[in-house]
Amino acid sequence: MITQDKYTFNRLVLASYRLPFNLITKDKQTQIVQNSGGLVSAILSLSQKMDTNFKQNFAKKILWVGHSEHTKKEFADVDSDKNTFDVYPVNIDPKINKKYYSGFCNDMIWPLFFFFSSVAVMDESYFENYIKANHLFFDVIEKLIQPDDLIWVHDYQLFLLPRLIRKRFPKANIGFFLHIPFPSYEIFRMMPPKWRKEILLGMLGADLIGFHTNDYTQHFLKTVSRILGYENSLRKIFAQDNIIKADAFPIGIDYDQFSLATESIEIEKEINKLTDALGEKKFIFSVDRLDYTKGILRRLLGLEYFLKNYPMWHGRVIFNMVVVPSRDTIPRYQEMKKEIEATVGMINGKYSTIGWRPIIYQYKSLTFNELVALYSFSHVGLITPLRDGMNLVAKEYVASQRHNIGVLILSEMAGAVAELGEAIIVNPFDKQEMGEAIYKALEMNDDERNHRIFQMKNRLKTYTVFSWTNDFFNQLQLIKNEQKIMEIKYINSDIEKEILTNYKHANNRVIFLDYDGTLVPLAKYPELATPNPNLIGQLKKLSSDDKNSIVIISGRDQSFLEQWFGDMNIFIIAEHGALIKKPLEKWEYEIDIDTGWKDNVYPVFQRYSDRCNGSFIEEKKASLAWHFRNCDADFAFVRSQELKEELKEIMSNELSLQILEGNKVIEIKKKGYDKGFAAIKFIDQKKNVDYILAIGDDKTDEDLFKAMPSTSYTIKVGSSPSNARYNLKYQNDVLSLIDKLIGESVHSEMGE
Ligand code: UDP
Repeated sequence: MITQDKYTFNRLVLASYRLPFNLITKDKQTQIVQNSGGLVSAILSLSQKMDTNFKQNFAKKILWVGHSEHTKKEFADVDSDKNTFDVYPVNIDPKINKKYYSGFCNDMIWPLFFFFSSVAVMDESYFENYIKANHLFFDVIEKLIQPDDLIWVHDYQLFLLPRLIRKRFPKANIGFFLHIPFPSYEIFRMMPPKWRKEILLGMLGADLIGFHTNDYTQHFLKTVSRILGYENSLRKIFAQDNIIKADAFPIGIDYDQFSLATESIEIEKEINKLTDALGEKKFIFSVDRLDYTKGILRRLLGLEYFLKNYPMWHGRVIFNMVVVPSRDTIPRYQEMKKEIEATVGMINGKYSTIGWRPIIYQYKSLTFNELVALYSFSHVGLITPLRDGMNLVAKEYVASQRHNIGVLILSEMAGAVAELGEAIIVNPFDKQEMGEAIYKALEMNDDERNHRIFQMKNRLKTYTVFSWTNDFFNQLQLIKNEQKIMEIKYINSDIEKEILTNYKHANNRVIFLDYDGTLVPLAKYPELATPNPNLIGQLKKLSSDDKNSIVIISGRDQSFLEQWFGDMNIFIIAEHGALIKKPLEKWEYEIDIDTGWKDNVYPVFQRYSDRCNGSFIEEKKASLAWHFRNCDADFAFVRSQELKEELKEIMSNELSLQILEGNKVIEIKKKGYDKGFAAIKFIDQKKNVDYILAIGDDKTDEDLFKAMPSTSYTIKVGSSPSNARYNLKYQNDVLSLIDKLIGESVHSEMGE
């Protein structure tokens, strides 16, 4: 049940490789035939509820862009107003499609993402056609998009599409969902560098990226951080010009559809047929598409182990294995099918008796009624994929248990396992464990079976397929709202006027100025970034106004700042808030300096310095920094990511430490203080402050911006999203602004 809708989107535009239905011509009559699959049933179920749960203006028809050989007109000719979807076919030249779909998608991404890396085919022409095909989808979608549409791109065939849309429509609301696993970094990186970068950047064109499980989300976050260097926090990725959320949205099923179907007369008839045919025998059931990820062969070996070790069950149990035809024009799939059939033959040959054959093998599709009847009738659901994004069959099996008699045996490699913990969980590679699980399931008492199914049913009832879409849309809205807060807003003449006018009228001003990248440009070595006489002059003038407290707030150490600003009428906060110096007074420690941790971290930094030519360590009172500005950029980037990983490991023992990532520098310090903390303390001590200006350029300045009262003028130097209210494009613009502030000071002194 949906509680609330918070989104403000108008229309839903979907893009997936397949359309929700296709056109089939039979006896000269063209008909629309609905495609099956989790996504279609999710969206159908959503559309049925749109009337009641969506905004009035959420258009009823859902627009769907997908590949088809037919034209829009052909669809329109047989389309009726009753259809929920308005389809926009993408016509792809068969030659392109072969290399794109059969090649890159099914021969490269599919095996790699399912951890079968050894069979992934990496052919440059596959990727070229993958790019072409994604552009063809874009060409169709580009013509449809209106402001406030929600564009939802699905799956591995369309990794590049979100970015293409983003480039053309920077403000578009874009979601992406991956229906297959996302592999670990070590597997993902096996792709050529250009491909892996394009794929990640393509996905990051979306505002929200969804996966089935938390594991896949974590794999993705780590991969993005290692390959692109984008950091994340609370599953938000800080990309160059946007903030993107990645999260787990386990797809549900239409629970009622399955549960209610078990009470229908048609299904009762199907069940009666099965009872007549099988009598008292126990019934084990499995159904999967023909695919090497489904573990069909291994499952047969598990069954054989069971038959070999538990002869008392001979003649009393039947295993019905349904394999649904899929991709069987591909040689690898044909070979697999032959091998499955030979193994079934071998087992049946070995264990059959005159009146009994242990395996009934069927290579066919089932109708919905047949499927639900088999789910409902069986005593054991044996679902053991070697790897699966989610596995809907497992969930449907549970929802179809009218009398709670079935026991689910589920692979630990299926995404569904996170929600179906009461199943008997097995390793699908281990035939012994599978064989023992079959025995355990058959011997399980009624109470336990009932209890396990009951628990799983309750969970599936709450997070249905409708909750899945609703949850995704809500999260998309939330990240859009957050992006608005972080939006880049350059200072224009009106804003500048306001900053200056309020400055003029204020009597007790505090001005926080970061140093590197704000007052001076970034330089090759920190010691080279010194203030020129002009800047010193400016700061002297600004600080000579009695109404001003000028605070240089920097990550630099005390000696450097002392050397240049120590004799001025300026407050200095050094090392991100660890030390403070009032004008012409001595330095004071703001924190307890405990640096015992440095002994563990220094050797690690040293190792990276030795391995990365041009990098060096800077030791400060309360922190250690590794600078890599002067190294080969690509090489140093990889090393810096490795260093971060290593530091994270050290930090799992030293919980009080924190990594700061600056511009080409990685710094480690104690938690519990930062620029924001120091700035707030400063303001509190000042009292009656009526004007705050804070300017900074780097990540550590975000703490400062966040901490400032909302009436303050916080300014980020550079063009990236920030917690600051405004952005200035270039470092030089800061100096011009300071000049204007000085101008206002002079005018007010002259009584203007
Ligand atoms: N299914 C089907 N036709 C059949 C048997 C099963 O359409 O003959 C459906 C089944 O109900 C389930 C889907 O196919 O919804 C399979 O989804 P799953 O996630 O288990 O595996 P996938 O095939 O997507 O890898």
